Amino acid sequence: MKYISTRGGDEPREFCDILLGGLAPDGGLYLPESYPQVRDRLAAWRGLSYSELAFEILSLYVTDIPAADLRAICDKTYTAQTYRWSRDAAKAKDIVPLTTLEPGFHLLELSNGPTLAFKDMAMQLLGNLFEYVLERRNETINILGATSGDTGSAAEYAMRGKHNVRVFMLSPDGLMSPFQRAQMYSLREPNIFNIAVRGMFDDAQDIVKAVSNDAAFKARYKIGAVNSINWARVMAQVVYYFKGYFAATSSNDQPVAFCVPSGNFGNICAGHIARMMGLPISRLVLATNENDVLDEFFRTGVYRPRAAAETHVTSSPSMDISKASNFERFIFDLVGRDAAKVRELWAQVDAGGAFDLRGTPYLAALPGYRFVSGSSSHADRLATIRAVWDRHRVMIDTHTADGIKVASEFREPGVPMVVLETAQAVKFSETIREALGREPVRPRELEGIESLPQRVDVVDASVEQVKAIIVGNC
Ligand SMILES: *Cc1c(COP(=O)(O)O)cnc(C)c1O
Repeated sequence: MKYISTRGGDEPREFCDILLGGLAPDGGLYLPESYPQVRDRLAAWRGLSYSELAFEILSLYVTDIPAADLRAICDKTYTAQTYRWSRDAAKAKDIVPLTTLEPGFHLLELSNGPTLAFKDMAMQLLGNLFEYVLERRNETINILGATSGDTGSAAEYAMRGKHNVRVFMLSPDGLMSPFQRAQMYSLREPNIFNIAVRGMFDDAQDIVKAVSNDAAFKARYKIGAVNSINWARVMAQVVYYFKGYFAATSSNDQPVAFCVPSGNFGNICAGHIARMMGLPISRLVLATNENDVLDEFFRTGVYRPRAAAETHVTSSPSMDISKASNFERFIFDLVGRDAAKVRELWAQVDAGGAFDLRGTPYLAALPGYRFVSGSSSHADRLATIRAVWDRHRVMIDTHTADGIKVASEFREPGVPMVVLETAQAVKFSETIREALGREPVRPRELEGIESLPQRVDVVDASVEQVKAIIVGNC
Protein backbone atom coordinates (compact mmCIF):
# COMPACT_ATOMS: atom_id res chain seq x y z
CA MET A 1 0.00 0.00 0.00
CA LYS A 2 1.28 3.45 -0.94
CA TYR A 3 0.14 6.85 0.31
CA ILE A 4 -0.60 9.94 -1.77
CA SER A 5 -1.19 13.58 -0.87
CA THR A 6 -4.63 15.15 -1.25
CA ARG A 7 -2.88 17.97 -3.13
CA GLY A 8 -1.14 15.68 -5.59
CA GLY A 9 2.36 17.12 -5.17
CA ASP A 10 4.17 14.21 -3.56
CA GLU A 11 5.49 10.85 -4.74
CA PRO A 12 3.57 7.83 -3.41
CA ARG A 13 5.20 6.75 -0.15
CA GLU A 14 5.26 3.79 2.21
CA PHE A 15 3.52 3.81 5.59
CA CYS A 16 6.68 4.07 7.71
CA ASP A 17 7.80 7.08 5.68
CA ILE A 18 4.65 9.05 6.46
CA LEU A 19 4.20 7.81 10.04
CA LEU A 20 6.47 10.31 11.77
CA GLY A 21 5.57 13.38 9.71
CA GLY A 22 2.46 15.52 9.67
CA LEU A 23 1.42 17.27 6.49
CA ALA A 24 2.75 16.18 3.11
CA PRO A 25 5.43 18.56 1.76
CA ASP A 26 2.83 20.11 -0.58
CA GLY A 27 0.60 21.00 2.39
CA GLY A 28 -1.88 18.16 1.75
CA LEU A 29 -2.89 15.17 3.87
CA TYR A 30 -1.91 11.58 3.17
CA LEU A 31 -4.44 8.98 2.12
CA PRO A 32 -4.01 5.43 0.82
CA GLU A 33 -3.97 5.14 -2.97
CA SER A 34 -7.13 3.04 -2.74
CA TYR A 35 -9.44 1.58 -0.10
CA PRO A 36 -9.21 -2.22 0.25
CA GLN A 37 -12.60 -3.90 -0.24
CA VAL A 38 -13.45 -6.21 2.64
CA ARG A 39 -17.16 -6.97 2.31
CA ASP A 40 -16.48 -10.67 1.79
CA ARG A 41 -14.26 -10.86 4.87
CA LEU A 42 -16.88 -9.69 7.36
CA ALA A 43 -17.95 -13.25 8.12
CA ALA A 44 -14.38 -14.27 8.95
CA TRP A 45 -13.82 -11.14 11.04
CA ARG A 46 -17.02 -11.18 13.09
CA GLY A 47 -15.67 -13.41 15.85
CA LEU A 48 -12.22 -11.85 16.19
CA SER A 49 -10.89 -10.19 19.32
CA TYR A 50 -10.13 -6.46 19.10
CA SER A 51 -6.39 -6.94 18.61
CA GLU A 52 -6.92 -9.68 15.99
CA LEU A 53 -9.33 -7.44 14.11
CA ALA A 54 -6.92 -4.50 14.40
CA PHE A 55 -4.18 -6.66 12.90
CA GLU A 56 -6.39 -7.76 9.97
CA ILE A 57 -7.39 -4.17 9.13
CA LEU A 58 -4.00 -2.57 9.75
CA SER A 59 -2.18 -5.15 7.68
CA LEU A 60 -4.13 -3.91 4.64
CA TYR A 61 -2.66 -0.45 5.16
CA VAL A 62 0.78 -1.21 6.63
CA THR A 63 2.73 -3.30 4.14
CA ASP A 64 6.25 -2.29 5.19
CA ILE A 65 6.27 -3.81 8.69
CA PRO A 66 6.61 -7.62 8.89
CA ALA A 67 3.28 -9.27 9.79
CA ALA A 68 4.61 -10.87 12.97
CA ASP A 69 5.86 -7.49 14.23
CA LEU A 70 2.60 -5.73 13.37
CA ARG A 71 0.65 -8.43 15.16
CA ALA A 72 2.85 -8.04 18.25
CA ILE A 73 2.28 -4.26 18.19
CA CYS A 74 -1.52 -4.78 18.03
CA ASP A 75 -1.41 -7.32 20.88
CA LYS A 76 0.64 -5.00 23.03
CA THR A 77 -1.62 -2.00 22.33
CA TYR A 78 -5.14 -3.36 22.72
CA THR A 79 -5.18 -5.04 26.13
CA ALA A 80 -7.97 -5.18 28.69
CA GLN A 81 -5.47 -3.76 31.18
CA THR A 82 -4.91 -0.57 29.14
CA TYR A 83 -8.62 -0.07 28.35
CA ARG A 84 -9.86 -1.04 31.77
CA TRP A 85 -12.16 1.84 32.75
CA SER A 86 -15.36 0.30 31.39
CA ARG A 87 -18.73 0.88 33.10
CA ASP A 88 -18.88 -2.86 33.51
CA ALA A 89 -15.41 -4.17 34.43
CA ALA A 90 -16.36 -7.61 33.08
CA LYS A 91 -16.60 -6.10 29.57
CA ALA A 92 -13.13 -4.52 29.54
CA LYS A 93 -11.83 -7.41 27.42
CA ASP A 94 -14.03 -6.13 24.55
CA ILE A 95 -11.78 -2.98 24.49
CA VAL A 96 -14.75 -0.99 23.09
CA PRO A 97 -17.80 -2.43 24.92
CA LEU A 98 -21.30 -1.67 23.70
CA THR A 99 -23.75 -0.21 26.25
CA THR A 100 -27.35 -0.65 25.12
CA LEU A 101 -29.56 2.23 26.27
CA GLU A 102 -32.70 0.81 24.64
CA PRO A 103 -33.24 -1.75 21.88
CA GLY A 104 -31.51 -0.47 18.75
CA PHE A 105 -29.87 2.52 20.50
CA HIS A 106 -26.35 1.98 21.80
CA LEU A 107 -23.22 3.67 23.08
CA LEU A 108 -19.84 2.39 21.88
CA GLU A 109 -17.45 3.00 24.79
CA LEU A 110 -14.27 4.46 23.28
CA SER A 111 -13.11 6.27 26.40
CA ASN A 112 -11.89 3.44 28.62
CA GLY A 113 -8.18 4.09 28.04
CA PRO A 114 -5.69 5.83 30.34
CA THR A 115 -6.92 9.41 29.77
CA LEU A 116 -10.63 8.57 29.55
CA ALA A 117 -11.13 10.01 26.05
CA PHE A 118 -11.34 8.29 22.68
CA LYS A 119 -8.01 9.74 21.54
CA ASP A 120 -6.31 6.95 23.53
CA MET A 121 -7.66 4.40 21.01
CA ALA A 122 -5.32 5.69 18.29
CA MET A 123 -2.63 7.39 20.33
CA GLN A 124 -1.67 4.21 22.21
CA LEU A 125 -1.05 2.51 18.86
CA LEU A 126 0.95 5.52 17.67
CA GLY A 127 3.22 5.26 20.74
CA ASN A 128 4.06 1.66 19.96
CA LEU A 129 4.48 2.29 16.21
CA PHE A 130 6.77 5.28 16.86
CA GLU A 131 8.96 3.29 19.23
CA TYR A 132 9.19 0.39 16.77
CA VAL A 133 10.06 2.50 13.71
CA LEU A 134 12.48 4.82 15.54
CA GLU A 135 14.36 1.88 17.02
CA ARG A 136 14.59 0.18 13.64
CA ARG A 137 15.95 3.36 12.05
CA ASN A 138 18.10 4.31 15.00
CA GLU A 139 16.45 7.76 15.15
CA THR A 140 14.97 9.89 17.89
CA ILE A 141 12.08 12.36 17.90
CA ASN A 142 11.10 15.27 20.13
CA ILE A 143 7.35 15.68 19.99
CA LEU A 144 6.28 19.27 20.54
CA GLY A 145 2.62 20.09 21.00
CA ALA A 146 0.13 22.45 22.58
CA THR A 147 -2.98 21.22 24.33
CA SER A 148 -6.06 22.53 26.03
CA GLY A 149 -6.73 19.08 27.49
CA ASP A 150 -7.50 15.76 25.78
CA THR A 151 -4.87 15.56 23.02
CA GLY A 152 -1.87 16.42 25.15
CA SER A 153 -2.68 13.98 27.89
CA ALA A 154 -3.43 11.19 25.39
CA ALA A 155 -0.05 11.85 23.72
CA GLU A 156 1.82 11.82 27.04
CA TYR A 157 0.20 8.58 28.21
CA ALA A 158 0.99 6.98 24.84
CA MET A 159 4.63 8.08 24.75
CA ARG A 160 5.57 7.76 28.44
CA GLY A 161 8.67 5.64 28.87
CA LYS A 162 9.03 4.99 25.12
CA HIS A 163 12.59 4.71 23.81
CA ASN A 164 13.90 7.44 21.48
CA VAL A 165 10.86 9.68 22.10
CA ARG A 166 10.56 12.82 24.23
CA VAL A 167 7.37 14.84 24.61
CA PHE A 168 7.37 18.59 25.25
CA MET A 169 3.74 19.55 25.85
CA LEU A 170 2.66 23.16 26.26
CA SER A 171 -0.55 24.01 28.10
CA PRO A 172 -2.09 27.32 29.20
CA ASP A 173 -1.07 27.91 32.83
CA GLY A 174 -4.02 27.52 35.19
CA LEU A 175 -6.68 27.09 32.49
CA MET A 176 -7.16 23.31 32.42
CA SER A 177 -9.38 21.61 34.97
CA PRO A 178 -7.68 20.33 38.16
CA PHE A 179 -8.30 16.76 36.96
CA GLN A 180 -6.70 17.41 33.55
CA ARG A 181 -3.71 19.12 35.19
CA ALA A 182 -3.27 16.22 37.58
CA GLN A 183 -3.47 13.69 34.74
CA MET A 184 -0.61 15.34 32.85
CA TYR A 185 1.57 16.93 35.49
CA SER A 186 1.71 13.91 37.81
CA LEU A 187 3.48 11.75 35.19
CA ARG A 188 6.97 10.88 36.41
CA GLU A 189 8.60 9.39 33.31
CA PRO A 190 11.78 11.30 32.46
CA ASN A 191 10.85 11.58 28.74
CA ILE A 192 7.74 13.68 29.47
CA PHE A 193 8.11 17.46 29.86
CA ASN A 194 5.12 19.59 30.85
CA ILE A 195 5.45 23.29 30.11
CA ALA A 196 2.74 25.65 31.39
CA VAL A 197 2.69 28.91 29.44
CA ARG A 198 1.49 32.10 31.10
CA GLY A 199 -1.18 32.89 28.51
CA MET A 200 -4.03 31.28 26.58
CA PHE A 201 -4.12 28.12 24.47
CA ASP A 202 -3.54 30.21 21.33
CA ASP A 203 -0.30 31.62 22.81
CA ALA A 204 0.94 28.07 23.42
CA GLN A 205 -0.11 27.07 19.89
CA ASP A 206 1.72 30.09 18.42
CA ILE A 207 4.93 29.04 20.19
CA VAL A 208 4.65 25.54 18.70
CA LYS A 209 4.21 27.05 15.24
CA ALA A 210 7.15 29.42 15.71
CA VAL A 211 9.47 26.60 16.82
CA SER A 212 8.32 24.36 13.96
CA ASN A 213 8.81 27.15 11.44
CA ASP A 214 12.45 27.53 12.50
CA ALA A 215 13.72 24.96 9.99
CA ALA A 216 17.27 24.82 11.39
CA PHE A 217 16.09 24.28 14.97
CA LYS A 218 13.47 21.78 13.83
CA ALA A 219 16.05 19.68 11.96
CA ARG A 220 18.73 19.90 14.65
CA TYR A 221 16.38 18.92 17.49
CA LYS A 222 14.24 16.51 15.42
CA ILE A 223 10.98 18.25 16.29
CA GLY A 224 7.87 16.24 15.41
CA ALA A 225 4.15 16.27 16.13
CA VAL A 226 1.30 13.85 16.79
CA ASN A 227 -1.64 15.99 15.71
CA SER A 228 -4.98 14.76 14.50
CA ILE A 229 -4.05 14.82 10.81
CA ASN A 230 -1.60 11.94 11.32
CA TRP A 231 -2.77 9.13 9.02
CA ALA A 232 -1.97 6.37 11.52
CA ARG A 233 -4.44 7.90 13.99
CA VAL A 234 -7.25 7.86 11.42
CA MET A 235 -6.34 4.31 10.40
CA ALA A 236 -6.42 3.06 14.01
CA GLN A 237 -9.90 4.52 14.41
CA VAL A 238 -11.29 2.54 11.45
CA VAL A 239 -11.04 -0.64 13.57
CA TYR A 240 -13.70 0.28 16.12
CA TYR A 241 -16.34 0.96 13.47
CA PHE A 242 -15.99 -2.69 12.48
CA LYS A 243 -15.98 -3.86 16.09
CA GLY A 244 -19.03 -1.70 16.89
CA TYR A 245 -20.82 -2.98 13.79
CA PHE A 246 -20.31 -6.60 14.82
CA ALA A 247 -21.46 -5.86 18.38
CA ALA A 248 -24.67 -4.16 17.23
CA THR A 249 -25.71 -6.75 14.61
CA SER A 250 -26.09 -10.48 14.24
CA SER A 251 -25.59 -10.76 10.48
CA ASN A 252 -23.41 -9.05 7.89
CA ASP A 253 -26.14 -7.62 5.70
CA GLN A 254 -27.74 -5.55 8.45
CA PRO A 255 -27.10 -1.80 8.09
CA VAL A 256 -26.02 0.29 11.11
CA ALA A 257 -25.93 4.07 11.64
CA PHE A 258 -23.09 5.67 13.61
CA CYS A 259 -23.34 9.05 15.30
CA VAL A 260 -20.04 10.83 15.93
CA PRO A 261 -19.44 13.90 18.15
CA SER A 262 -17.13 15.82 15.84
CA GLY A 263 -14.55 18.59 15.87
CA ASN A 264 -11.58 18.12 13.55
CA PHE A 265 -13.38 15.43 11.49
CA GLY A 266 -10.78 12.81 12.48
CA ASN A 267 -13.09 10.33 14.16
CA ILE A 268 -15.87 10.45 11.57
CA CYS A 269 -13.31 10.38 8.72
CA ALA A 270 -12.45 6.87 9.94
CA GLY A 271 -16.16 6.01 9.67
CA HIS A 272 -16.19 7.28 6.10
CA ILE A 273 -13.20 5.06 5.31
CA ALA A 274 -14.83 2.02 6.97
CA ARG A 275 -17.89 2.60 4.76
CA MET A 276 -15.69 2.98 1.65
CA MET A 277 -14.12 -0.40 2.55
CA GLY A 278 -17.56 -2.00 2.40
CA LEU A 279 -18.83 -1.93 5.99
CA PRO A 280 -22.66 -1.71 5.78
CA ILE A 281 -23.07 1.74 7.34
CA SER A 282 -26.48 3.19 6.50
CA ARG A 283 -25.69 6.72 7.64
CA LEU A 284 -22.93 8.65 9.36
CA VAL A 285 -24.55 11.18 11.68
CA LEU A 286 -22.24 14.10 12.39
CA ALA A 287 -22.89 15.97 15.65
CA THR A 288 -21.38 19.35 16.46
CA ASN A 289 -21.76 21.71 19.40
CA GLU A 290 -22.32 25.46 18.97
CA ASN A 291 -19.25 25.43 16.68
CA ASP A 292 -21.27 24.17 13.74
CA VAL A 293 -19.01 24.69 10.72
CA LEU A 294 -19.33 21.01 9.72
CA ASP A 295 -23.08 20.84 10.32
CA GLU A 296 -23.42 23.88 8.08
CA PHE A 297 -21.46 22.14 5.31
CA PHE A 298 -23.56 18.98 5.36
CA ARG A 299 -26.78 20.99 5.40
CA THR A 300 -25.84 23.57 2.74
CA GLY A 301 -22.72 22.58 0.78
CA VAL A 302 -20.88 25.69 2.01
CA TYR A 303 -17.69 25.19 4.03
CA ARG A 304 -16.96 28.38 5.91
CA PRO A 305 -14.21 28.00 8.54
CA ARG A 306 -14.51 30.59 11.29
CA ALA A 307 -11.90 33.00 12.59
CA ALA A 308 -10.38 31.88 15.90
CA ALA A 309 -12.11 34.83 17.59
CA GLU A 310 -15.49 33.54 16.35
CA THR A 311 -15.00 30.14 18.01
CA HIS A 312 -17.39 29.61 20.92
CA VAL A 313 -16.01 28.37 24.23
CA THR A 314 -18.46 25.59 25.13
CA SER A 315 -19.06 22.87 27.68
CA SER A 316 -17.96 20.26 25.11
CA PRO A 317 -14.56 21.92 24.68
CA SER A 318 -12.85 19.18 22.65
CA MET A 319 -15.19 20.06 19.78
CA ASP A 320 -14.47 23.80 19.91
CA ILE A 321 -12.86 24.15 16.51
CA SER A 322 -12.98 26.88 13.88
CA LYS A 323 -11.74 24.72 11.00
CA ALA A 324 -11.76 20.94 10.71
CA SER A 325 -8.21 19.81 10.00
CA ASN A 326 -9.15 16.37 8.60
CA PHE A 327 -11.99 17.55 6.38
CA GLU A 328 -9.72 17.80 3.33
CA ARG A 329 -9.49 13.99 3.31
CA PHE A 330 -13.23 13.62 2.78
CA ILE A 331 -13.41 16.40 0.20
CA PHE A 332 -10.61 14.68 -1.77
CA ASP A 333 -12.86 11.60 -2.09
CA LEU A 334 -15.98 13.71 -2.75
CA VAL A 335 -14.36 15.50 -5.71
CA GLY A 336 -13.34 12.16 -7.22
CA ARG A 337 -9.75 12.37 -5.89
CA ASP A 338 -9.06 15.36 -8.13
CA ALA A 339 -6.03 16.92 -6.39
CA ALA A 340 -6.17 20.05 -8.57
CA LYS A 341 -9.71 20.68 -7.35
CA VAL A 342 -8.61 20.22 -3.71
CA ARG A 343 -5.76 22.70 -4.27
CA GLU A 344 -8.23 25.19 -5.70
CA LEU A 345 -10.67 24.81 -2.77
CA TRP A 346 -7.96 24.98 -0.09
CA ALA A 347 -6.34 28.00 -1.70
CA GLN A 348 -9.57 29.74 -0.70
CA VAL A 349 -9.63 28.19 2.80
CA ASP A 350 -5.95 28.90 3.49
CA ALA A 351 -6.49 32.54 2.48
CA GLY A 352 -9.10 32.81 5.23
CA GLY A 353 -12.09 32.26 2.92
CA ALA A 354 -14.75 29.63 2.31
CA PHE A 355 -15.87 27.37 -0.52
CA ASP A 356 -19.32 26.77 -1.90
CA LEU A 357 -20.23 23.53 -3.69
CA ARG A 358 -23.81 24.56 -4.48
CA GLY A 359 -24.63 24.13 -8.13
CA THR A 360 -21.65 21.78 -8.71
CA PRO A 361 -21.68 18.04 -9.49
CA TYR A 362 -19.88 17.53 -6.15
CA LEU A 363 -22.91 18.57 -4.16
CA ALA A 364 -25.02 16.22 -6.28
CA ALA A 365 -22.62 13.42 -5.29
CA LEU A 366 -22.78 14.21 -1.56
CA PRO A 367 -25.93 12.19 -0.71
CA GLY A 368 -24.12 9.07 -1.99
CA TYR A 369 -21.76 9.39 0.98
CA ARG A 370 -24.73 9.21 3.38
CA PHE A 371 -23.84 11.89 5.90
CA VAL A 372 -26.48 13.73 7.90
CA SER A 373 -25.76 16.28 10.62
CA GLY A 374 -27.07 18.36 13.47
CA SER A 375 -25.83 20.57 16.30
CA SER A 376 -26.33 20.89 20.02
CA SER A 377 -26.27 23.67 22.63
CA HIS A 378 -25.37 23.90 26.32
CA ALA A 379 -29.06 23.60 27.23
CA ASP A 380 -29.41 20.48 25.02
CA ARG A 381 -26.34 18.99 26.67
CA LEU A 382 -27.72 19.47 30.19
CA ALA A 383 -31.13 18.09 29.19
CA THR A 384 -29.58 15.04 27.49
CA ILE A 385 -27.24 14.23 30.39
CA ARG A 386 -30.27 14.44 32.71
CA ALA A 387 -32.56 12.37 30.48
CA VAL A 388 -30.02 9.57 30.02
CA TRP A 389 -29.31 9.50 33.75
CA ASP A 390 -32.99 9.54 34.72
CA ARG A 391 -34.06 6.89 32.20
CA HIS A 392 -31.09 4.56 32.16
CA ARG A 393 -28.91 5.44 35.18
CA VAL A 394 -26.02 5.84 32.71
CA MET A 395 -23.77 8.87 33.17
CA ILE A 396 -22.44 10.43 29.96
CA ASP A 397 -20.02 13.24 29.28
CA THR A 398 -20.83 16.48 27.47
CA HIS A 399 -19.46 15.41 24.04
CA THR A 400 -21.35 12.13 24.09
CA ALA A 401 -24.45 14.14 25.05
CA ASP A 402 -24.09 16.16 21.84
CA GLY A 403 -23.97 12.84 19.98
CA ILE A 404 -27.07 11.41 21.66
CA LYS A 405 -29.03 14.61 21.11
CA VAL A 406 -28.31 14.63 17.37
CA ALA A 407 -28.61 10.84 16.96
CA SER A 408 -32.14 10.99 18.38
CA GLU A 409 -33.15 13.19 15.45
CA PHE A 410 -32.03 10.65 12.85
CA ARG A 411 -33.25 7.26 14.01
CA GLU A 412 -34.62 4.93 11.33
CA PRO A 413 -36.89 1.99 12.11
CA GLY A 414 -35.01 -1.30 12.09
CA VAL A 415 -31.54 0.29 11.84
CA PRO A 416 -29.44 0.17 15.00
CA MET A 417 -27.93 3.54 15.97
CA VAL A 418 -24.50 3.44 17.59
CA VAL A 419 -23.38 6.68 19.29
CA LEU A 420 -19.63 6.90 19.80
CA GLU A 421 -18.86 7.70 23.44
CA THR A 422 -15.81 9.95 23.19
CA ALA A 423 -15.04 10.79 26.84
CA GLN A 424 -16.05 9.94 30.40
CA ALA A 425 -18.13 12.27 32.54
CA VAL A 426 -15.43 12.69 35.21
CA LYS A 427 -13.39 14.86 32.83
CA PHE A 428 -16.15 17.47 32.74
CA SER A 429 -17.37 17.48 36.31
CA GLU A 430 -18.49 21.11 36.35
CA THR A 431 -21.19 20.46 33.73
CA ILE A 432 -22.16 17.16 35.35
CA ARG A 433 -22.75 19.01 38.64
CA GLU A 434 -24.83 21.58 36.75
CA ALA A 435 -26.91 18.89 35.05
CA LEU A 436 -27.29 16.36 37.85
CA GLY A 437 -26.39 18.17 41.05
CA ARG A 438 -23.87 15.48 41.92
CA GLU A 439 -20.28 14.52 41.32
CA PRO A 440 -19.49 12.31 38.32
CA VAL A 441 -18.49 8.71 38.92
CA ARG A 442 -14.75 8.26 38.88
CA PRO A 443 -12.71 5.07 38.48
CA ARG A 444 -11.45 4.12 41.93
CA GLU A 445 -7.78 4.10 40.89
CA LEU A 446 -8.09 7.78 39.98
CA GLU A 447 -9.43 8.92 43.35
CA GLY A 448 -7.24 11.69 44.71
CA ILE A 449 -4.93 12.11 41.69
CA GLU A 450 -5.25 15.87 42.21
CA SER A 451 -3.08 15.58 45.34
CA LEU A 452 -0.18 13.65 43.74
CA PRO A 453 3.09 15.59 43.33
CA GLN A 454 3.17 17.50 40.02
CA ARG A 455 6.06 18.21 37.65
CA VAL A 456 5.70 21.26 35.38
CA ASP A 457 7.85 24.18 34.22
CA VAL A 458 6.00 27.49 34.15
CA VAL A 459 7.29 29.92 31.52
CA ASP A 460 6.28 33.21 29.89
CA ALA A 461 4.68 33.05 26.44
CA SER A 462 8.19 33.14 24.97
CA VAL A 463 9.57 31.08 22.10
CA GLU A 464 13.10 31.44 23.51
CA GLN A 465 12.17 30.08 26.94
CA VAL A 466 10.53 27.02 25.37
CA LYS A 467 13.48 26.43 23.05
CA ALA A 468 15.81 26.64 26.06
CA ILE A 469 13.89 23.85 27.81
CA ILE A 470 14.14 21.64 24.71
CA VAL A 471 17.86 22.33 24.28
CA GLY A 472 18.53 21.73 27.97
CA ASN A 473 16.89 18.29 27.88
CA CYS A 474 18.22 16.85 24.62
C1 LIG B 1 -11.15 15.15 20.10
C2 LIG B 1 -12.50 14.91 20.65
C3 LIG B 1 -13.68 14.98 19.86
C4 LIG B 1 -13.64 15.38 18.39
O1 LIG B 1 -13.03 14.43 17.58
P1 LIG B 1 -12.52 14.80 16.10
O2 LIG B 1 -11.75 13.65 15.65
O3 LIG B 1 -11.65 16.03 16.28
O4 LIG B 1 -13.72 15.10 15.27
C5 LIG B 1 -14.89 14.68 20.44
N1 LIG B 1 -14.98 14.36 21.74
C6 LIG B 1 -13.90 14.29 22.54
C7 LIG B 1 -14.08 13.96 23.97
C8 LIG B 1 -12.62 14.55 22.03
O5 LIG B 1 -11.54 14.49 22.84
